[in-house]
Amino acid sequence: MSKKPQPESLMMSHGYKPELSEGAIKPPIFQTSTFTFKTAEEGKAFFEVAYGLREQSEGEEQGLIYSRINNPNLEILEDRLTLWDEAEECAVFESGMSAISTVFLEFLKPGDLLLVSAPLYGGSDHFVSKILPTFGIHTAAFHVGQSQREIMDIVEASGMADRLAMIHIETPANPTNDLIDIAGCRAVADHFSTPEKRVRLAVDNTYLGPLWQHPLKHGADLVIYSATKYIGGHSDVIAGACLGSKPLIKRVKVLRTFLGNMAGPWTGWLLMRSLETLKARMDLQATNAERVAEMLNNHPKVGRVYYLGNLTEQKDPDQYRIREEQCLSNGAMLSFDIDGGEPAAFRFLNALRLIKLAVSLGSTESLAEHPATMTHADVDEAVKANLNITASMLRLSVGVENWRDLCDDIEQALAKA
Ligand SMILES: *Cc1c(COP(=O)(O)O)cnc(C)c1O
Repeated sequence: MSKKPQPESLMMSHGYKPELSEGAIKPPIFQTSTFTFKTAEEGKAFFEVAYGLREQSEGEEQGLIYSRINNPNLEILEDRLTLWDEAEECAVFESGMSAISTVFLEFLKPGDLLLVSAPLYGGSDHFVSKILPTFGIHTAAFHVGQSQREIMDIVEASGMADRLAMIHIETPANPTNDLIDIAGCRAVADHFSTPEKRVRLAVDNTYLGPLWQHPLKHGADLVIYSATKYIGGHSDVIAGACLGSKPLIKRVKVLRTFLGNMAGPWTGWLLMRSLETLKARMDLQATNAERVAEMLNNHPKVGRVYYLGNLTEQKDPDQYRIREEQCLSNGAMLSFDIDGGEPAAFRFLNALRLIKLAVSLGSTESLAEHPATMTHADVDEAVKANLNITASMLRLSVGVENWRDLCDDIEQALAKA
């Protein structure tokens, strides 16, 4: 018996049949809004399955109808994405935010309580704190470092423990790389679940996925991505994805059909192209980040370096344990404190030559930014201070350049800071 190939070996072929496309080695872009049915009977059968009017028979696949419902570029991409997380099914979206907001709208109803980790990505935070309340959905939040007991107390203290419907977390947290225990959150979700109502756990896995962290294996029901970041990986496309069991993703896809926020064929094609090099890119980015962190750790103008590889069992026993349990790499995102506050941080950013000054992350080119005045500008000052997001902090997304060139660029910019 031959072993099942690793996902990286399947990214060039999985889910695509060349014989259906004139033998083309690569999937063409199916730039079409609608698909012809061979017969009226076939059209009827496709709609019955799409609208859930009857059970799918053994081996029957959903036929192609209309590109808001399905399209080959999306279906092949979805099949490939399931391999990394070993998920049953995947739904891709035109942005990470549309994946996140569709999940919230599908699984939360008026009166429900949503528990989130803080800090959340700015867009998610806005949706949770400004938009969900207009639908009558309540939110409670816990911070990194809080124990399972403390998290349960927060839910109890809300007075709505019986309405807890979902826990949504982001780990590692941006920009500090603080880790949240996924299995621990599963335990909290189980504690508040009843035989009639399973409290769902969703994990935004943009920072370490899909290579370096597999939340479904630690008890998550849904894993969500901004595919704009590592999955796309070239800063040239906005996209998102959500993965989980067949029944859950089926629900997500039905709402996606009616919100109309599925990815287009061109986005699907670009992401398939990106997936072919995902493993090679991410491996190199992680190695480069390790070299950059080493240099920063020993630099006299640099204070604390927020990098998963710096966690030690002695100094950070809890964070270290979580990393050992759920992270397969230290990733390629790191932050550091520079001596001299905002003026020094800005001199550093303005002096960079190779590394670009921009937000976003996970791409082939290295990026630097100042969280306090950029990505986290509208976070409450007290919360910022509490999370160590000070004027001295800089965030780096490490790319695929030669690591010596990256270290040289950072060193010359530090000299001017
Ligand atoms: C970028 C990002 C998002 C939003 O994704 P878009 O593709 O920009 O819509 C959500 N979560 C995290 C962690 C992100 O970094």
